[in-house]
Amino acid sequence: MTAHADLVELDHVSMEYRTPVAFTALRDVGLRIASGETVAVVGPSGSGKTTLLGIVGGLERPTSGAVRLLGEDLAALSDAQVAAARAHSIGFVFQRFHLIEHLSVLDNVATGLLYTGVRARDRRNAARAALARVGLGRRETERVGHLSGGERQRVVLARAGVAEPRLLIVDEPTGNLDSATGGAVVELLAGLAGPGTAVVVVTHDPAVAGALARRIAVHDGEIVDDTGRPG
Ligand code: ADP
Ligand code: MG
Repeated sequence: MTAHADLVELDHVSMEYRTPVAFTALRDVGLRIASGETVAVVGPSGSGKTTLLGIVGGLERPTSGAVRLLGEDLAALSDAQVAAARAHSIGFVFQRFHLIEHLSVLDNVATGLLYTGVRARDRRNAARAALARVGLGRRETERVGHLSGGERQRVVLARAGVAEPRLLIVDEPTGNLDSATGGAVVELLAGLAGPGTAVVVVTHDPAVAGALARRIAVHDGEIVDDTGRPG
């Protein structure tokens, strides 16, 4: 990795799903995201936003094109190596990543460090700090089953941020954040992310999108608008 490498680089990335019929979800996408950027991804349902996040975060491999994370070509890595890179560098807030109902708030957040080689005691300390950052410091011994929808979303955010990732990827956060305004969501994300952490958020909420520095619009699998990096 060179000193000036972008955090994430996508070159000519396409994604074709073959089930049930061939369908191109992403078409020749190029994208660069630098450290510390805050990016909103907007676009209609089915336009490829979640697919794009999955590829940016190394959850899925594209059908064609190159993906580099911190200068490293993910195609050259095994699935296990990609998983390790993810655990160290990326935090996810995806609907499909569920909380573990029978565990405490603290233990749920600590699972965000399970695959990073951090010792159990340090995992719990880091989890406490992450919970404090999302305003849930006093709920750590409670089972997540007792929490409200909005509180659960905060636990998910704390888990995503516990490893102090370089990149935080959030797919449509506001649906579950009861009573939180867009501004509160952005404040939460900013509190989670360190100064070097980039944040990429898929959102339908104009207040959330408007509060982030860069906005990317996706339509029919293509980036049709990108305000670019400020400055
Ligand atoms: P968005 O997040 O913008 O709503 P998605 O990225 O989830 O869009 O999906 C883009 C398109 O790809 C949709 O038409 C969706 O049905 C299709 N798609 C997504 N995942 C799969 C999959 N695993 N298999 C087949 N088609 C998929
Ligand atoms: Mg989606």
